[in-house]
Amino acid sequence: MRGELERFWRLLRQHTHGQRTLGFVRRLWETDRWADFAHFHKTADTVAELFEQFGLADVERVEIPADGRHEVGDWVMPLAWDCDEAVIEIADPAMDEAIVARRSDVPNVAGEWCAPTEPGGQVFDCVFLPDGNASALEELDVRGKLVCTTGQSRQIRGVLAEKGAAGCISSWTRNERLADATQWINVASDRPGGWGMTALDSRQITLAVTRRQMARLAELADRHGRLRLRVRVEARLYEGALPFVSARLAGQDPSDQEVILLGHLYEQGANDNATGCASILEIARSLAAAVAAGHLARPRRSIRFLLMGESYGSLAYAIRNFERMQRTIAGLCVDTGAGPPELARCHYQINGTPLCARSFLDAWHVTVAREYVRRYRRDRQVTLTDFALGTDQLFNDPAIGTPTNWVMIPSADDVWHNSADSLETLDVRAHEDLVGIEGATAYSIAGAGAQETALAAELTAAHELARLEGRLHDRLLAGGAGWSDQVGEVIVDAVARSVRSAGQLAGDAAGHVEAAAEAARARAVACLADDRDRRKRLGLADDRADDEADATRWDRQAERMVPRRSPGLVGSLSLDTVPVERWAAGGMSHSPRWGGPCTMAWWWADGRRNVRQIRDAVLAEGASLDGVDLLKYFQFLSDCGHVTI
Ligand SMILES: [Zn+2]
Repeated sequence: MRGELERFWRLLRQHTHGQRTLGFVRRLWETDRWADFAHFHKTADTVAELFEQFGLADVERVEIPADGRHEVGDWVMPLAWDCDEAVIEIADPAMDEAIVARRSDVPNVAGEWCAPTEPGGQVFDCVFLPDGNASALEELDVRGKLVCTTGQSRQIRGVLAEKGAAGCISSWTRNERLADATQWINVASDRPGGWGMTALDSRQITLAVTRRQMARLAELADRHGRLRLRVRVEARLYEGALPFVSARLAGQDPSDQEVILLGHLYEQGANDNATGCASILEIARSLAAAVAAGHLARPRRSIRFLLMGESYGSLAYAIRNFERMQRTIAGLCVDTGAGPPELARCHYQINGTPLCARSFLDAWHVTVAREYVRRYRRDRQVTLTDFALGTDQLFNDPAIGTPTNWVMIPSADDVWHNSADSLETLDVRAHEDLVGIEGATAYSIAGAGAQETALAAELTAAHELARLEGRLHDRLLAGGAGWSDQVGEVIVDAVARSVRSAGQLAGDAAGHVEAAAEAARARAVACLADDRDRRKRLGLADDRADDEADATRWDRQAERMVPRRSPGLVGSLSLDTVPVERWAAGGMSHSPRWGGPCTMAWWWADGRRNVRQIRDAVLAEGASLDGVDLLKYFQFLSDCGHVTI
């Protein structure tokens, strides 16, 4: 593989330029930083135009209804929203410098889905809620008023709706040191853990100012005993569409297997995620050019490029192309990535696959990344982190079937979702690294034949066994109990399955791969046995006593319940279609759309495992089930029609 990669990188470095990627960043960011649907459509135009220019096949632009009702999986698509201007002005006390903030200066001043005011603007009384604590709101009369808070608007939105407030102005940023950054408010749901505004959510004015601006407002209110603001928001909520754009570098293999590179558009940040999308564009451009010129062999498998709205778009793509997903053997998602290599914070972070989707991908990807930095970027560290659903990795749902990694390079400072995430934060070397590593990973998997298959199987076995050893040691040193036999079995199976997955790359290497998978299984079993012995010698706790004699009533009930997911419900669960009043029955207080044990349990529910086995699988994933009753949860999902049991 080394020789191949070296040739590839030498070529790529002749043809790719970090500066060109930066040019793509500028083009995407120019429109996306306005974060409304009219601009999103312009961004999609840019992407489709570029894909065509690169000479890619099957350039497709799909408009998903964004009407606040349309369901994609169990997610409800948001309403479309456009905004021309938003101005916050001090009306009372009267003063010279009355304007506080304006969207035409800083797009984030208007939160996404911010309701319009009357055309000439409206004057509102302001109420201050210093810490953003929703319970403190109970005491306050906020009807028709604007609530000014240093907390997050999403925390109080539901209460504001109940109490008839006009809306809120928030100065929250995750990074407290940023006094002059304006947060992008992109949640407009009244539901806990909700996201985009649906037809059922309240319409509220949602504005953002900087910490410094908020301090000025609070000081004025203190000094004068009152504060009234004139607010003018020119916006409209409507039934529109949210497009995704995809294209393909056609492979030569009749098996129709694909590798997919994806990244989300439609956010305000240069780093998150114009960078990720621009890197994917540069990979597409340079690969297509090198293949067309005969400098690189056309890969066996196709490489697909997908740029879309986060989660809403990737889920829609997966559902529309369900059959294709089954033969898409690896996914690489780039979300955020432009920090300088010499800062420890800005390592090259590959978020791995969960056990339920484990394949050769993690090992392959990390190997390529380490080889790249060894050669070209010695001061950049590469780390593989445990799976955490933080972006478009929902392809890892085994019902979709595409093992997918999330790649990010954190920025030099935390500028998450705020106006400080601008072009100045970008380091051109990060773009080169993303293009070099993700391009090489995609191209090498797409081109893998019998030789690479054997290599992938070996690498994966070594990698997964080292990972298992690492987990066992960490657990021992952290004082965690040993795994039960059942949990151990899930892990052993995942090790063998990940090695076996290399067989997808070349059928004629099947015998070799099978032998490697069985050898890896035996070594994983031995690892677990060693751990048990070690624990016994040390006299440490062990929760292996999970045999029949100790089975509780819960266990017996769980053994009888086998949830089967309803057709078409794939990806992470949002519970968007289930009334919040019903959530308590399933022990749910928050939408599980961003992962956690409930999402893991959902992914393991394949219609064959019972709930006890699903519990063991979730524990094997490393998730905590404290406070989660999976019997209740699946009963609830059954009552909602999400599963049959
Ligand atoms: Zn992002």
